[in-house]
Amino acid sequence: MVRPTPVQSAGLDRLRERVLLTMQGMTVLGDVDRSSLRLIPLGLLRKSATQRHGVTRWIRHPSGKLSVETVDLHPRLLDDEWSDYAAFVLFHEYLHALGWRAHDRTFRTLEATWPDTQASLRGPDFTRRMREGKATWYWRCPSCEHDYPRQRKAGGQYLCRTCRHVLQDVPAEDAQ
Ligand SMILES: [Zn+2]
Ligand SMILES: [Zn+2]
Repeated sequence: MVRPTPVQSAGLDRLRERVLLTMQGMTVLGDVDRSSLRLIPLGLLRKSATQRHGVTRWIRHPSGKLSVETVDLHPRLLDDEWSDYAAFVLFHEYLHALGWRAHDRTFRTLEATWPDTQASLRGPDFTRRMREGKATWYWRCPSCEHDYPRQRKAGGQYLCRTCRHVLQDVPAEDAQ
């Protein structure tokens, strides 16, 4: 976990209250005790993370019992433009913290009840934007011209997800 600055801490506190308020009204969670969630410290992932946007970290006690140590979020989720997605990510982690540990069917059903359905779809966009920040290469589709930001060359090994053409390497500094 990366320790948040005071400004980031304040942002995490606001986010927590927002998510807990929304969860209070979610009847799908039944009478599950949500009050313990407020006690979980919120931390940050390294900003170099791209695939992971939030993580629930567990500790195992000598008795074998598991409890949540922290929930860590990607620091860029504290930017205003991602605040709706940030709330969804924290909700996702809180579902884990409440005991639904695996991404199974029950978990996905609960996750899908988050009222802001637009926000829940922004994950791939967030990953892409984090990768763009670090990209040294773009894998460009010669057919649809879609760019896939990456840190290494494709070397003729990858196909466009949409049209299945072999992707070409373009240095990031030439791509914009
Ligand atoms: Zn998860
Ligand atoms: Zn394509």
